[in-house]
Amino acid sequence: MTRRARGSAQRQPRHKLEVVPLGGLGEFGMNCAALRFGRDIVVIDAGVMFPEEHVLGVNIVIPDFEYLFAHAAEVRGILLTHGHEDHIGALPYLYEKVRAPIYGSDFTLGLAARKLREHRLPHDRALKQVRASDEVKLGPFKVQFIQVTHSIPGTFSLAVQTPVGTLIHSADFKMDQTPIDGRTFDFQTFSYYGDHGVLALLSDSTNAEVEGFTESERSVGAGIDALFRRARSRVVFSTFSSNVHRIQQVIDAAATHKRKVALIGSSMNSTAEVAQSLGHLKVPPGILVEPKEVRRLAPPRVAIVAAGSQGEPMSALSRIALDDHRDVSLQPGDLVLISARAIPGNEKSINRVINHLYRRGAEVIFGGAAPYHVSGHASREELKILLNMTRPRYFVPVHGEVRQLYSHARLAASTGMPRERILLAESGDVVELDERGGRVSGKVPVGRVFLDGTLEEVDEIVVRDRRHISEGGIVLAVVAINRRTGDLVGEPEIVTRGFVDAEARGDLLSEAARVVRKSIGAATPEERADRGVVKALIQRDLKRYFRRSLDRRPMIIPAVVET
Ligand SMILES: [Zn+2]
Ligand SMILES: [Zn+2]
Repeated sequence: MTRRARGSAQRQPRHKLEVVPLGGLGEFGMNCAALRFGRDIVVIDAGVMFPEEHVLGVNIVIPDFEYLFAHAAEVRGILLTHGHEDHIGALPYLYEKVRAPIYGSDFTLGLAARKLREHRLPHDRALKQVRASDEVKLGPFKVQFIQVTHSIPGTFSLAVQTPVGTLIHSADFKMDQTPIDGRTFDFQTFSYYGDHGVLALLSDSTNAEVEGFTESERSVGAGIDALFRRARSRVVFSTFSSNVHRIQQVIDAAATHKRKVALIGSSMNSTAEVAQSLGHLKVPPGILVEPKEVRRLAPPRVAIVAAGSQGEPMSALSRIALDDHRDVSLQPGDLVLISARAIPGNEKSINRVINHLYRRGAEVIFGGAAPYHVSGHASREELKILLNMTRPRYFVPVHGEVRQLYSHARLAASTGMPRERILLAESGDVVELDERGGRVSGKVPVGRVFLDGTLEEVDEIVVRDRRHISEGGIVLAVVAINRRTGDLVGEPEIVTRGFVDAEARGDLLSEAARVVRKSIGAATPEERADRGVVKALIQRDLKRYFRRSLDRRPMIIPAVVET
């Protein structure tokens, strides 16, 4: 061996930390990252992405977990930062093949357990509840959970000590100085790590283009209260069911203004139940009523909290808007507040729901901004504070499309961070950190896996097993609808792929066409005028038909043509 060769062999670092983002960098949602040191891996989050409307028949998108499946035996733990869908929605698909212990707060694990139950995955011993400041040792990693504020209870940032240095993953956060539950952002611990040296900071870029500070969740309370004060009839309120602090403020306003509250939608009810049982949601006795009691109460004495703030076609709010809800029928004078920002891609669906609500005679406030909504994510000033508190050697912007990642990188540079220490990576890029420094080097396979789900509510999606799609086949249902009357034009056309029972096919197709005719026939003219609703109805009924008659679960793709 020549001296030169030996020299380079010596320089070859034996200890390196690899940060492998599998989703969420350069795209919105689907957050998932692996930290790898030698033959040990910890996974941070396993989220979904909500597909854009034009992806026919697809309701949910998960990261391609090929990399983690290939290294399943090396995974020491799955760390969940919080319970939002873009962080835990894909957990069942990961956990199905990677049976590692799952760490998170009480509320995060409460929601995660519900998902694993829906997928019939045994998990009781896998769930490891941690509290703020707890430390967990996983192979060469020592993980500390740091309390932060966000739009869901029980959110943690992570400090991961590794043999080459400490990595901080911010998760989603904002610096709310007056949080509803009094659990404040843990500035001290971030400063502690800053003082002791941080190798790398991975930080949330969602609001990297938003100037200033994000307002406190508490400021929404005043907006809600003012609304309750002027409402003369019912108040219908819609937000994400996981936004427990906002629902708390609605319940508080209802108590002040002597209204009863009905929670409508299965995700709204089950999330509230988890939140209440853990003490995150405090409900004064006697204030909650069953949805069916709404009809009996005088309108000025009622507040309704409904799921469906993203315009999901089969959600409670959507059904109410179409006057197709068992318990709630809107009347002129009712006030509807949608207290949420539109997730990119959902604008059209939300708009449709708002149009229907106006047809019912309701006054509609789409509160995408203060005083009816505030973001759960840190704005530029808060992002600078985190950078300055932790003073990392390397900075990797995460959670955002490319434009947000670039803005966050420029923002970091403005705090004095040298450009060469800001590492811009996208999903699939491997960020290497060792004693020689940090760099983006290498790639792992990443991608998106499309699944269809029942079109219930966004955070109540019971998605089918990925395996079932290849086994269940595909059904395409094409219907033409008269734009003016909403009537069916001609026969529905049914095309199937992946069905082996060839002899049954003729009957099967004509029977499926009959099912589609029936779903459209049963819809009201208003529903028929709404392509999103028509598609959802066809999907629901065909799904039921194939399950009942053939015990099959094909992927169903409805296409509606207006003539
Ligand atoms: Zn997120
Ligand atoms: Zn979040």
